[in-house]
Amino acid sequence: MTRGASFKDIRFFDTTLRDGEQTPGVSLTAEEKLRIACKLDSIGVHVIEAGSAITSEGERASIKTIANEGLSAEICSFARVLEKDIDLALGCDVDSVHLVVPVSDLHIERKLKKDREAVKQMAVSVTEYAKDHGLIVELSGEDASRADIDYLISVYKAGIEAGADRLCFCDTVGVLLPERTEDIFRRLVKLNAPISVHCHNDFGLATANSIAALRVGAKQVHVTANGLGERAGNAALEEVVMTLEALYNYDTGIDTTNLYTTSRLVSRLTGVLVAPNKAIIGDYAFTHESGIHTHGILASPDTYEPISPEIVGRTRKIVLGKHAGKSSVSIALKEFGLEASDEQLDEIVRRIKDLGDKGKKTTDADLQTIAEAVLGVYREAKVKLDELTVVSGNKVTPTASVKLKVGDQYLIESGIGIGPVDAALHALRRAIADIADIELDEYRVEAITGGTDALVEVWVKLSKDGKTVTARGAREDIIMASVEAMLEGINRLM
Ligand code: MN
Repeated sequence: MTRGASFKDIRFFDTTLRDGEQTPGVSLTAEEKLRIACKLDSIGVHVIEAGSAITSEGERASIKTIANEGLSAEICSFARVLEKDIDLALGCDVDSVHLVVPVSDLHIERKLKKDREAVKQMAVSVTEYAKDHGLIVELSGEDASRADIDYLISVYKAGIEAGADRLCFCDTVGVLLPERTEDIFRRLVKLNAPISVHCHNDFGLATANSIAALRVGAKQVHVTANGLGERAGNAALEEVVMTLEALYNYDTGIDTTNLYTTSRLVSRLTGVLVAPNKAIIGDYAFTHESGIHTHGILASPDTYEPISPEIVGRTRKIVLGKHAGKSSVSIALKEFGLEASDEQLDEIVRRIKDLGDKGKKTTDADLQTIAEAVLGVYREAKVKLDELTVVSGNKVTPTASVKLKVGDQYLIESGIGIGPVDAALHALRRAIADIADIELDEYRVEAITGGTDALVEVWVKLSKDGKTVTARGAREDIIMASVEAMLEGINRLM
């Protein structure tokens, strides 16, 4: 644990719904935005920037709904230094505005086609206007990291004079370095208003720069779930929180055990996948493969884990491949409630390494299949496919019907979809809906080796009541591979 920095009353300003929504390709519905806002509020972020009231009618309706939801967090709208932006924000019932004033000469001259003095005047008059209308004002310097610092400070001072409650320093294009951030913030914290830091991740330094600012006295940090945001994104909520918690031993007050569920929700609703090796929330962040590492983990988890996965609401995963050793296999088996003798373990490891040598990954499903075969505890599948019909073409709605056999009962259902695979999976999920509430969390197709008759591998990740399994189907027919993967997963979950 690093000591020496004393943090106090740090506030988290979450901009997943504003800067995060500016991630290329992301557009959320009002309902999705509300779900994310409620989640962020429940984990304890202090401010939620719900959007930008100037964007559209729909955006305003969505901000207004969030503002009137009765959340504990302060609800904020982005605004430019224009009175009409303040009027639009007021129409959304927000508590505060993130009032953004361009401060670099580049932005002032090229974007606004104005001069420094005129821009400072705009900041002052719009701050006064917002204060007169009862808003909390966070006066934010856009492109501050490329601005003349003396001019920036003069804008901040004029803003404080005009009533600004807080200040914000935006590293709009992500060019700060930690040491430079410290130098700058040592000056800014002397101003007569709390200062926030807003960092972008163009060089992968957003978290480090945010922490640097906080170390020397910044009071608030702008973050987004999963580090979403313009271009390479913003400082990630989960990274900043866990750096403060785990490395500086500072209690942020954020419910860290829900960082992962927050990340999953945001990823699902925005459609932006999290890189598997992403810190804290990536698929591999608590996954161990090599035999030596898993042996260490078995002896004591902290040998190869900086924090235990439960702290962020996750579980440890052991992936088996050609590096698998007996210890990793036996940990993985225990997860399924299986116990193997030494001799049986040798045989299971041999088979896994065999698959690994052929370049194959061993999924949970593979391991279970192998283990059950070796242990002689093969259980018959509960849910079996009896019939499947899929119709697709250029003039028909892709439609599928399935007949499943569960015990001595038959379940028959149909479904439509975007394409034949979607229709088949839809029918399948409807057929089992009555007996189990199973979520399809991920679907992907892998290892299409070329040629229309090549083997297709479909991977699905299913969950039921918090339990997750991955399952695989491998066929020459993508529809059958998909159905096989789903059924495999369903049987494992039931
Ligand atoms: Mn930004």
